[in-house]
Amino acid sequence: MLALKKPSLASDGLELTHKAPEPGVGHTEVKIRVMAASICGTDQSIYHITSRPGLRDEMMAYHGRNLADYKPIIIGHEFCGEVVEAGEDVHPEVARPGDYVTSEMHISDGHCQQCRNGKRHICQNIRVKGLHLDGAFAEYVTVPSENVINLDKFGGRSVIPPRFGAFLDALGNAVHTVTEADVAGKTVAILGCGPQGLMATALARTLGATRIYVTDFSDPRDDVGSSRLQGRFQTARELGADFCYDTNESAVPAARRELLDRAAAEQGGGVDVVLEMSGAEAAYNDAGSLVKNGGSILLLGIPAWPLQSFDFGKYAVWKGVTIRGVFGRRMFDTWFTMLDLLASEKSGLRSKLEKIIRRQPIPLENFEQGFEMVRTHEAIKLLLVPSGADIKEV
Ligand SMILES: [Zn+2]
Ligand SMILES: [Zn+2]
Repeated sequence: MLALKKPSLASDGLELTHKAPEPGVGHTEVKIRVMAASICGTDQSIYHITSRPGLRDEMMAYHGRNLADYKPIIIGHEFCGEVVEAGEDVHPEVARPGDYVTSEMHISDGHCQQCRNGKRHICQNIRVKGLHLDGAFAEYVTVPSENVINLDKFGGRSVIPPRFGAFLDALGNAVHTVTEADVAGKTVAILGCGPQGLMATALARTLGATRIYVTDFSDPRDDVGSSRLQGRFQTARELGADFCYDTNESAVPAARRELLDRAAAEQGGGVDVVLEMSGAEAAYNDAGSLVKNGGSILLLGIPAWPLQSFDFGKYAVWKGVTIRGVFGRRMFDTWFTMLDLLASEKSGLRSKLEKIIRRQPIPLENFEQGFEMVRTHEAIKLLLVPSGADIKEV
Protein backbone atom coordinates (compact mmCIF):
# COMPACT_ATOMS: atom_id res chain seq x y z
CA MET A 1 0.00 0.00 0.00
CA LEU A 2 0.91 3.65 -0.27
CA ALA A 3 2.45 5.12 2.90
CA LEU A 4 4.55 8.04 4.09
CA LYS A 5 7.46 6.99 6.27
CA LYS A 6 10.14 8.60 8.38
CA PRO A 7 13.08 6.60 7.05
CA SER A 8 15.78 7.87 9.44
CA LEU A 9 16.07 10.08 12.51
CA ALA A 10 19.55 11.17 11.46
CA SER A 11 18.30 13.38 8.65
CA ASP A 12 15.40 15.60 7.64
CA GLY A 13 12.69 14.63 5.17
CA LEU A 14 10.13 11.89 4.64
CA GLU A 15 9.82 9.04 2.16
CA LEU A 16 6.82 7.89 0.17
CA THR A 17 6.58 4.20 -0.55
CA HIS A 18 4.12 2.20 -2.65
CA LYS A 19 5.27 -1.05 -1.11
CA ALA A 20 4.37 -0.81 2.56
CA PRO A 21 2.67 -4.06 3.64
CA GLU A 22 -0.98 -3.64 4.61
CA PRO A 23 -1.32 -3.92 8.40
CA GLY A 24 -2.68 -7.18 9.79
CA VAL A 25 -5.70 -7.30 12.11
CA GLY A 26 -5.37 -8.86 15.58
CA HIS A 27 -8.32 -10.33 17.51
CA THR A 28 -9.14 -7.04 19.18
CA GLU A 29 -8.05 -4.67 16.41
CA VAL A 30 -9.84 -2.71 13.73
CA LYS A 31 -8.48 -2.03 10.25
CA ILE A 32 -9.49 1.30 8.75
CA ARG A 33 -9.28 2.60 5.17
CA VAL A 34 -7.98 6.14 5.55
CA MET A 35 -10.20 8.76 3.87
CA ALA A 36 -8.20 11.81 4.89
CA ALA A 37 -5.38 12.66 7.28
CA SER A 38 -4.30 16.05 8.54
CA ILE A 39 -0.78 17.45 8.87
CA CYS A 40 0.06 18.30 12.50
CA GLY A 41 2.84 20.51 13.86
CA THR A 42 4.36 17.32 15.23
CA ASP A 43 4.52 15.90 11.69
CA GLN A 44 6.35 19.07 10.62
CA SER A 45 8.78 18.54 13.49
CA ILE A 46 9.28 14.89 12.46
CA TYR A 47 10.07 16.12 8.94
CA HIS A 48 12.66 18.56 10.33
CA ILE A 49 13.87 16.16 13.02
CA THR A 50 17.53 17.26 13.14
CA SER A 51 16.50 20.54 14.77
CA ARG A 52 14.13 18.78 17.21
CA PRO A 53 16.34 16.82 19.64
CA GLY A 54 13.58 16.41 22.23
CA LEU A 55 11.19 14.86 19.74
CA ARG A 56 13.95 12.65 18.35
CA ASP A 57 14.63 11.29 21.84
CA GLU A 58 10.90 10.61 22.23
CA MET A 59 10.74 8.78 18.89
CA MET A 60 13.69 6.65 20.01
CA ALA A 61 12.01 5.78 23.32
CA TYR A 62 11.19 2.19 22.29
CA HIS A 63 14.10 1.62 19.89
CA GLY A 64 17.25 1.70 22.03
CA ARG A 65 20.07 4.20 22.40
CA ASN A 66 21.56 4.57 18.93
CA LEU A 67 19.87 6.28 16.00
CA ALA A 68 20.93 3.25 13.94
CA ASP A 69 18.49 1.17 16.04
CA TYR A 70 15.51 3.17 14.81
CA LYS A 71 13.08 1.20 12.66
CA PRO A 72 11.23 3.35 10.09
CA ILE A 73 7.57 3.99 10.86
CA ILE A 74 4.63 5.37 8.92
CA ILE A 75 3.84 8.80 10.38
CA GLY A 76 0.53 10.68 10.68
CA HIS A 77 -1.86 10.60 13.62
CA GLU A 78 -4.84 12.79 12.70
CA PHE A 79 -7.22 10.98 10.38
CA CYS A 80 -10.64 9.49 9.75
CA GLY A 81 -11.79 6.64 7.58
CA GLU A 82 -14.01 3.65 7.07
CA VAL A 83 -13.74 0.32 8.86
CA VAL A 84 -12.80 -2.48 6.45
CA GLU A 85 -12.22 -5.28 8.95
CA ALA A 86 -12.79 -5.89 12.65
CA GLY A 87 -10.97 -8.64 14.58
CA GLU A 88 -13.03 -11.59 15.79
CA ASP A 89 -13.20 -10.36 19.39
CA VAL A 90 -14.34 -6.83 18.54
CA HIS A 91 -17.89 -6.22 19.73
CA PRO A 92 -20.14 -5.20 16.80
CA GLU A 93 -21.27 -2.15 18.79
CA VAL A 94 -17.69 -0.87 18.67
CA ALA A 95 -17.01 -1.11 14.95
CA ARG A 96 -18.38 -2.94 11.96
CA PRO A 97 -17.18 -2.87 8.35
CA GLY A 98 -18.49 0.29 6.70
CA ASP A 99 -18.59 2.37 9.93
CA TYR A 100 -17.22 5.90 9.74
CA VAL A 101 -14.58 6.27 12.45
CA THR A 102 -11.52 7.98 13.79
CA SER A 103 -9.22 6.85 16.60
CA GLU A 104 -7.43 8.02 19.69
CA MET A 105 -3.85 7.37 18.57
CA HIS A 106 -2.29 7.35 22.04
CA ILE A 107 -2.07 3.71 23.07
CA SER A 108 -1.92 3.24 26.84
CA ASP A 109 -0.86 0.01 28.54
CA GLY A 110 -3.99 -0.20 30.72
CA HIS A 111 -1.94 -1.50 33.67
CA CYS A 112 0.20 1.25 35.17
CA GLN A 113 -0.93 3.25 38.21
CA GLN A 114 -2.09 6.19 36.07
CA CYS A 115 -4.12 3.96 33.75
CA ARG A 116 -5.78 2.18 36.64
CA ASN A 117 -6.60 5.48 38.34
CA GLY A 118 -8.42 6.94 35.34
CA LYS A 119 -5.52 8.91 33.83
CA ARG A 120 -4.76 6.84 30.78
CA HIS A 121 -3.69 9.91 28.81
CA ILE A 122 -0.54 10.09 30.96
CA CYS A 123 0.18 6.36 30.97
CA GLN A 124 3.78 5.61 31.90
CA ASN A 125 4.15 3.43 28.82
CA ILE A 126 2.24 5.51 26.32
CA ARG A 127 2.91 4.73 22.68
CA VAL A 128 1.70 7.02 19.95
CA LYS A 129 0.73 5.76 16.53
CA GLY A 130 2.51 7.94 13.97
CA LEU A 131 5.35 8.65 16.43
CA HIS A 132 6.37 5.32 17.99
CA LEU A 133 4.18 2.96 15.94
CA ASP A 134 2.83 2.99 12.38
CA GLY A 135 0.39 5.83 11.78
CA ALA A 136 -2.20 7.07 9.35
CA PHE A 137 -0.46 8.69 6.37
CA ALA A 138 -1.25 5.51 4.45
CA GLU A 139 -4.08 3.74 2.70
CA TYR A 140 -4.83 1.62 5.79
CA VAL A 141 -4.17 1.82 9.50
CA THR A 142 -4.96 -0.68 12.27
CA VAL A 143 -5.85 0.42 15.80
CA PRO A 144 -6.92 -1.33 19.04
CA SER A 145 -10.72 -1.48 19.12
CA GLU A 146 -10.84 0.31 22.49
CA ASN A 147 -9.29 3.35 20.80
CA VAL A 148 -11.88 3.55 18.02
CA ILE A 149 -14.17 6.59 18.02
CA ASN A 150 -17.23 5.55 16.05
CA LEU A 151 -18.41 8.80 14.48
CA ASP A 152 -21.60 7.19 13.19
CA LYS A 153 -22.74 7.23 16.84
CA PHE A 154 -22.28 11.02 16.94
CA GLY A 155 -24.27 12.01 13.88
CA GLY A 156 -22.05 10.53 11.19
CA ARG A 157 -20.85 12.41 8.13
CA SER A 158 -23.68 14.92 8.09
CA VAL A 159 -22.63 16.27 11.50
CA ILE A 160 -18.89 15.56 11.35
CA PRO A 161 -17.81 15.52 7.69
CA PRO A 162 -14.43 13.89 6.99
CA ARG A 163 -12.73 17.29 6.70
CA PHE A 164 -13.48 17.67 10.46
CA GLY A 165 -13.12 14.00 11.30
CA ALA A 166 -9.55 14.12 9.99
CA PHE A 167 -8.30 16.48 12.70
CA LEU A 168 -10.30 15.62 15.82
CA ASP A 169 -7.06 14.47 17.46
CA ALA A 170 -5.75 18.04 17.17
CA LEU A 171 -9.03 19.66 18.12
CA GLY A 172 -9.08 17.35 21.14
CA ASN A 173 -5.80 18.82 22.37
CA ALA A 174 -7.34 22.29 22.28
CA VAL A 175 -10.55 21.04 23.94
CA HIS A 176 -8.51 19.37 26.69
CA THR A 177 -6.48 22.55 27.32
CA VAL A 178 -9.44 24.94 27.32
CA THR A 179 -11.64 22.71 29.49
CA GLU A 180 -8.80 22.19 32.02
CA ALA A 181 -8.62 25.98 32.31
CA ASP A 182 -12.36 26.39 32.96
CA VAL A 183 -12.54 29.67 31.03
CA ALA A 184 -16.19 30.66 31.58
CA GLY A 185 -16.37 34.24 32.81
CA LYS A 186 -12.61 34.62 32.71
CA THR A 187 -10.05 36.64 30.78
CA VAL A 188 -7.82 34.44 28.66
CA ALA A 189 -4.54 34.98 26.81
CA ILE A 190 -3.72 32.46 24.08
CA LEU A 191 -0.08 32.44 23.03
CA GLY A 192 0.49 31.17 19.51
CA CYS A 193 -1.78 31.74 16.53
CA GLY A 194 -1.19 28.42 14.78
CA PRO A 195 -3.87 25.73 14.46
CA GLN A 196 -3.88 25.01 18.23
CA GLY A 197 -4.09 28.69 19.17
CA LEU A 198 -6.88 29.31 16.68
CA MET A 199 -8.88 26.28 17.78
CA ALA A 200 -8.40 27.28 21.43
CA THR A 201 -9.66 30.76 20.55
CA ALA A 202 -12.83 29.36 19.00
CA LEU A 203 -13.35 27.06 22.00
CA ALA A 204 -12.66 29.72 24.64
CA ARG A 205 -15.24 31.96 22.96
CA THR A 206 -17.74 29.10 22.69
CA LEU A 207 -17.23 28.17 26.35
CA GLY A 208 -17.78 31.68 27.67
CA ALA A 209 -14.45 33.50 28.11
CA THR A 210 -15.02 37.24 28.67
CA ARG A 211 -12.01 38.69 26.86
CA ILE A 212 -9.55 36.82 24.66
CA TYR A 213 -6.04 38.03 23.88
CA VAL A 214 -4.10 36.25 21.12
CA THR A 215 -0.39 36.71 20.55
CA ASP A 216 2.22 35.40 18.14
CA PHE A 217 5.70 36.36 17.02
CA SER A 218 6.25 37.15 13.34
CA ASP A 219 9.49 35.53 12.32
CA PRO A 220 10.81 36.24 8.82
CA ARG A 221 13.22 33.30 9.11
CA ASP A 222 10.25 30.94 9.14
CA ASP A 223 8.71 32.64 6.10
CA VAL A 224 6.08 33.83 8.53
CA GLY A 225 6.34 37.48 7.92
CA SER A 226 4.30 40.16 9.50
CA SER A 227 1.64 40.26 6.78
CA ARG A 228 0.92 36.52 6.94
CA LEU A 229 0.60 36.80 10.72
CA GLN A 230 -1.84 39.68 10.33
CA GLY A 231 -3.94 37.33 8.16
CA ARG A 232 -3.91 34.76 10.97
CA PHE A 233 -4.95 37.45 13.43
CA GLN A 234 -7.90 38.31 11.19
CA THR A 235 -8.97 34.66 11.40
CA ALA A 236 -8.49 34.75 15.19
CA ARG A 237 -10.81 37.77 15.44
CA GLU A 238 -13.43 35.94 13.36
CA LEU A 239 -13.14 33.01 15.79
CA GLY A 240 -13.65 35.21 18.84
CA ALA A 241 -10.41 37.02 19.78
CA ASP A 242 -10.80 40.55 21.16
CA PHE A 243 -7.17 41.65 20.83
CA CYS A 244 -4.31 40.29 18.72
CA TYR A 245 -0.68 41.29 19.14
CA ASP A 246 2.52 40.55 17.23
CA THR A 247 5.09 40.39 20.05
CA ASN A 248 8.04 40.86 17.65
CA GLU A 249 9.01 44.37 18.73
CA SER A 250 11.19 44.97 15.70
CA ALA A 251 8.21 44.25 13.41
CA VAL A 252 5.54 46.13 15.41
CA PRO A 253 7.38 48.34 17.93
CA ALA A 254 4.53 49.35 20.26
CA ALA A 255 2.46 46.17 20.20
CA ARG A 256 4.04 44.21 23.05
CA ARG A 257 3.95 47.21 25.40
CA GLU A 258 0.30 47.80 24.54
CA LEU A 259 -0.48 44.13 25.19
CA LEU A 260 1.16 44.18 28.62
CA ASP A 261 -0.50 47.47 29.59
CA ARG A 262 -3.92 46.29 28.50
CA ALA A 263 -3.62 42.98 30.36
CA ALA A 264 -2.32 44.78 33.47
CA ALA A 265 -5.47 46.94 33.42
CA GLU A 266 -7.69 43.83 33.75
CA GLN A 267 -9.22 43.15 37.16
CA GLY A 268 -6.57 41.62 39.38
CA GLY A 269 -3.76 43.13 37.32
CA GLY A 270 -3.57 40.47 34.61
CA VAL A 271 -5.50 37.77 32.80
CA ASP A 272 -7.01 34.86 34.72
CA VAL A 273 -5.70 32.18 32.41
CA VAL A 274 -2.86 31.85 29.90
CA LEU A 275 -2.92 29.03 27.37
CA GLU A 276 0.58 28.51 25.98
CA MET A 277 0.03 26.85 22.60
CA SER A 278 3.26 27.79 20.77
CA GLY A 279 6.23 26.14 22.47
CA ALA A 280 8.24 29.28 21.59
CA GLU A 281 10.73 30.24 24.30
CA ALA A 282 9.81 33.94 24.31
CA ALA A 283 6.17 33.08 24.94
CA TYR A 284 6.85 31.61 28.39
CA ASN A 285 7.99 34.91 29.82
CA ASP A 286 5.01 36.59 28.13
CA ALA A 287 2.82 34.04 29.92
CA GLY A 288 4.38 34.97 33.25
CA SER A 289 3.98 38.70 32.55
CA LEU A 290 0.35 38.48 31.39
CA VAL A 291 -1.06 36.22 34.10
CA LYS A 292 -2.46 37.84 37.24
CA ASN A 293 -1.35 36.89 40.74
CA GLY A 294 -3.05 33.61 41.57
CA GLY A 295 -3.91 32.91 37.94
CA SER A 296 -3.02 29.83 35.96
CA ILE A 297 -0.86 28.93 32.99
CA LEU A 298 -1.63 25.84 30.94
CA LEU A 299 1.11 24.49 28.72
CA LEU A 300 0.28 22.58 25.54
CA GLY A 301 3.08 23.83 23.27
CA ILE A 302 6.25 21.74 23.38
CA PRO A 303 9.54 23.66 23.38
CA ALA A 304 12.07 22.37 20.85
CA TRP A 305 14.79 22.40 23.53
CA PRO A 306 14.95 22.94 27.32
CA LEU A 307 14.02 26.51 28.29
CA GLN A 308 16.96 28.72 29.21
CA SER A 309 15.24 31.83 30.44
CA PHE A 310 11.93 31.26 32.21
CA ASP A 311 11.94 33.10 35.53
CA PHE A 312 10.13 30.75 37.93
CA GLY A 313 10.76 32.98 40.94
CA LYS A 314 9.25 36.07 39.37
CA TYR A 315 6.44 34.46 37.39
CA ALA A 316 5.42 31.44 39.44
CA VAL A 317 6.50 31.75 43.10
CA TRP A 318 5.99 35.47 43.76
CA LYS A 319 2.74 35.52 41.84
CA GLY A 320 1.35 32.28 43.28
CA VAL A 321 0.64 31.05 39.78
CA THR A 322 -0.44 27.49 38.97
CA ILE A 323 1.40 26.01 35.99
CA ARG A 324 0.11 22.81 34.50
CA GLY A 325 1.12 20.69 31.52
CA VAL A 326 -1.53 19.27 29.24
CA PHE A 327 -0.87 16.12 27.22
CA GLY A 328 -3.05 14.58 24.57
CA ARG A 329 -6.74 14.10 25.22
CA ARG A 330 -8.33 12.69 28.36
CA MET A 331 -9.46 9.20 27.49
CA PHE A 332 -12.16 9.50 26.76
CA ASP A 333 -14.01 12.41 28.35
CA THR A 334 -12.29 14.97 26.10
CA TRP A 335 -13.70 13.10 23.10
CA PHE A 336 -17.25 13.10 24.45
CA THR A 337 -17.08 16.83 25.25
CA MET A 338 -15.68 17.60 21.80
CA LEU A 339 -18.21 15.48 19.90
CA ASP A 340 -21.08 17.03 21.86
CA LEU A 341 -19.82 20.54 21.10
CA LEU A 342 -19.52 19.69 17.40
CA ALA A 343 -23.01 18.22 17.31
CA SER A 344 -24.50 21.29 18.98
CA GLU A 345 -25.66 23.62 16.22
CA LYS A 346 -25.89 26.56 18.61
CA SER A 347 -22.29 26.22 19.80
CA GLY A 348 -21.30 27.66 16.40
CA LEU A 349 -18.12 25.60 16.60
CA ARG A 350 -18.45 23.93 13.22
CA SER A 351 -18.83 27.15 11.28
CA LYS A 352 -15.80 28.53 13.14
CA LEU A 353 -13.70 25.47 12.29
CA GLU A 354 -14.57 25.83 8.59
CA LYS A 355 -12.40 28.96 8.65
CA ILE A 356 -9.23 27.04 9.46
CA ILE A 357 -9.56 24.08 7.07
CA ARG A 358 -8.24 24.28 3.53
CA ARG A 359 -11.14 22.88 1.51
CA GLN A 360 -8.97 21.39 -1.24
CA PRO A 361 -7.18 18.25 0.01
CA ILE A 362 -3.85 17.23 -1.49
CA PRO A 363 -3.03 13.71 -2.72
CA LEU A 364 -0.69 11.92 -0.30
CA GLU A 365 1.78 11.54 -3.19
CA ASN A 366 2.17 15.35 -3.18
CA PHE A 367 3.01 15.46 0.52
CA GLU A 368 5.99 17.77 -0.06
CA GLN A 369 3.65 20.45 -1.36
CA GLY A 370 1.32 19.98 1.60
CA PHE A 371 4.09 20.15 4.19
CA GLU A 372 5.49 23.27 2.53
CA MET A 373 2.09 24.98 2.57
CA VAL A 374 1.72 24.29 6.29
CA ARG A 375 5.33 25.28 7.07
CA THR A 376 4.97 28.63 5.35
CA HIS A 377 1.54 29.18 6.93
CA GLU A 378 -0.17 29.28 3.55
CA ALA A 379 -2.60 26.71 4.96
CA ILE A 380 -3.69 26.31 8.60
CA LYS A 381 -5.17 22.80 8.56
CA LEU A 382 -4.53 20.79 5.41
CA LEU A 383 -5.69 17.30 4.50
CA LEU A 384 -3.76 14.61 2.66
CA VAL A 385 -5.77 11.90 0.91
CA PRO A 386 -4.37 8.52 -0.16
CA SER A 387 -4.63 7.78 -3.87
CA GLY A 388 -7.49 5.34 -3.51
CA ALA A 389 -9.65 7.81 -1.59
CA ASP A 390 -12.22 10.00 -3.29
CA ILE A 391 -11.27 13.63 -2.76
CA LYS A 392 -14.92 14.61 -3.01
CA GLU A 393 -15.88 12.53 0.04
CA VAL A 394 -14.09 14.88 2.42
ZN1 LIG B 1 -1.03 16.16 16.30
ZN1 LIG C 1 -0.55 2.95 31.71
